[in-house]
Amino acid sequence: MSYSQLDRPVQFLKGVGPKRADAFVRLGVTTARDLLYHVPRRYDDASTVEPIVRLEVGMDASAIGRVRSKGVIPTRRGLRIFQAVLEDDTGMITVAWPGQPWLDRKLREGDTLLVTGKVKFFHGRQLQPREYSILSRASDQDAGTGTAGEPGSGAASLAGGLVFVTYPATEELPQWVLRGIFDKNLEAMLGWADDDEYLSPQVRTRLELPGLAEALTLLHRPTTLYDAERGRRRLAFDELFFLQLVQAQARRKATALEPGIAHRRTNRLVRPLHESLPFSLTEAQARALREVYADMQSEGRMNRLLQGDVGSGKTAVATFAMALAVEGGSQAVLMAPTEILAEQHARGVQTLLAPLDVKVQLLTGRLGAAERRQALGAVASGEASIVVGTHALIQDAVRYRALGLVVIDEQHRFGVRQRMALLERDDGRPDVLVMSATPIPRSLAMALYGDLDISVLDEMPPGRTPVKTALRSPDARASVYAFIRERIAEGRQAYIVYPLVEESEKIDLLSATAEFDRLRAGPFEGARVGLLHGQLPGSEKDTVMRAFASGELDVLVATTVIEVGIDVPNATVIVIEHAERFGLSQLHQLRGRVGRGAEESHCIVISEPGDDALERLRVFRDTTDGFEIARADLRIRGQGDLFGSRQHGKDAMLRFADLLADEDLLVTAQRDARALISADPELTQAEHSPIREHLVARYRHRLAMYGVG
Ligand code: ADP
Ligand code: MG
Repeated sequence: MSYSQLDRPVQFLKGVGPKRADAFVRLGVTTARDLLYHVPRRYDDASTVEPIVRLEVGMDASAIGRVRSKGVIPTRRGLRIFQAVLEDDTGMITVAWPGQPWLDRKLREGDTLLVTGKVKFFHGRQLQPREYSILSRASDQDAGTGTAGEPGSGAASLAGGLVFVTYPATEELPQWVLRGIFDKNLEAMLGWADDDEYLSPQVRTRLELPGLAEALTLLHRPTTLYDAERGRRRLAFDELFFLQLVQAQARRKATALEPGIAHRRTNRLVRPLHESLPFSLTEAQARALREVYADMQSEGRMNRLLQGDVGSGKTAVATFAMALAVEGGSQAVLMAPTEILAEQHARGVQTLLAPLDVKVQLLTGRLGAAERRQALGAVASGEASIVVGTHALIQDAVRYRALGLVVIDEQHRFGVRQRMALLERDDGRPDVLVMSATPIPRSLAMALYGDLDISVLDEMPPGRTPVKTALRSPDARASVYAFIRERIAEGRQAYIVYPLVEESEKIDLLSATAEFDRLRAGPFEGARVGLLHGQLPGSEKDTVMRAFASGELDVLVATTVIEVGIDVPNATVIVIEHAERFGLSQLHQLRGRVGRGAEESHCIVISEPGDDALERLRVFRDTTDGFEIARADLRIRGQGDLFGSRQHGKDAMLRFADLLADEDLLVTAQRDARALISADPELTQAEHSPIREHLVARYRHRLAMYGVG
């Protein structure tokens, strides 16, 4: 791989000695390139920073000024307050940090500060900062002191449209030190950045993105906030493009490297299935089926994700796909995360296929030895056209006569590695359809599952009664229990969900186990109450779930283990305790446990009033659309750990891209990455070698994860 100056350790940069180099490592910066990509976390300009004269009591504002004087002021109650008088061209203001006298040793007269906080009235105007940073030092040889007027340096004036940058800093590497190091080295580093450019000028023009060196210049030294945003978009594109390249290689390996099965459509089963269906397909189902059929009938191998909320009709789509496989002479497999779900699927598929002469074979761990032998025989001989079971179906040494389609339900229980392993079976190349009932925004789906093609069921079958959602405070529990007792009297069932299994002394949360005892003895005395949580042995979990599903229990006290794997149409109430502890999408999954029958259903969410989470819970109450909830969840919780494992600092998968804001970039990145991989699969053409080098150098781990490295 070609060597760039940017690969050199930070220590050789001006102003960085061994001590600072160590401190940089702790900041995640080891090479000059890392430093160049250590971009500001915050920008301030005249639109965000107030001239000091304009600061008024009651404002929440940012200001920049020089420390004119400072000192610690004792108060009568013993609290020591550090105060500084900050000055810019327009005036002065007192800035106060109550209880932080040590700041007197950190700040010097003449330092330039950026402060953000509330302006209060206290012997005149006084700003109490939530946040501050030293933009430049008064008298320090080492500081990037200021050539006033130069963008990004520590000038105390906003005249001339300056933008002040604030870097992610640490105690060891404070703001002013970082700024000083950038002042000394940025120009050289930007010069080397051309080594990393992999987009041709033509492509950049088409994408309307700046070159790499220009983008980094805009990020470090913007003259307007718009500049900084232009720079960010370029780096965001890079991240998305390389992620998509990895996934495009995985997709090619899965679908194009070797041919799959071109299923023959005879309509022998598909047509009668249509005619016998007690409903007509939704637009969304019809669209998804067209996509699935096209994949299946083509030479290429299908590798498709079918996304849709609980009840949107995914199983129906899967059943048609399986019918197509079977009429073309293949076998189809449907895999579920739990045995109970597998049994439910088997029944559901059987019901839809009842008018047709198709053998559906259930294959789970509950079969006795003789039954199992018989089942395996039917699968091996091809007598069983459709096999339904748990995910273990693929690990087991199950032999098929002609496996042509694999459908995986609840694929999020199924990691990328398992998915890729599934593609490498030694008994042919079946088409693969994975289904997910966890709605995620399109951009997120593209980012996470860029190796798959995606079909979305964004429409519910008609005639559903939406689940009624209510927010209640803990003191309303008695009436909630009374409501449940009424439903039980009508023959219905209820879930009560807790975030913990056992009571913890540290956190005062209700736990499933303790509440189970309390509820059984008190509010639900005489009712049949069961307990379900993840720490129960598998067989016991299974017994409890079956008892609830068959109506032998009235109330199921549970943790989130019920999120997937249970479908009980007779359950019409779900109560979620400590709802503030759950994410929006998780709440939505839990709510999906009810509303599965004809009866009106209720989701009652219990949370302390005045909790920060209240706004989130209101969104949940007022929204039934899973995709909308997922967008809100992403907006509120951020995209922090989407890609699993710890993702911080420079190791974060997406530092610049914002999946909600950059959907357009993602669409382009995916299209370009797929086009590139189909034109030059191994990236061996000379013009693509910078891309290949970058991919291998920075994405080795991810390539390995997809088995394409
Ligand atoms: P999912 O697998 O997405 O949770 P299912 O396929 O199990 O959804 O469908 C949920 C219920 O809706 C089933 O009882 C199914 O028979 C029914 N259903 C599916 N598609 C339609 C439709 N187009 N119109 C009416 N009912 C439908
Ligand atoms: Mg095919």
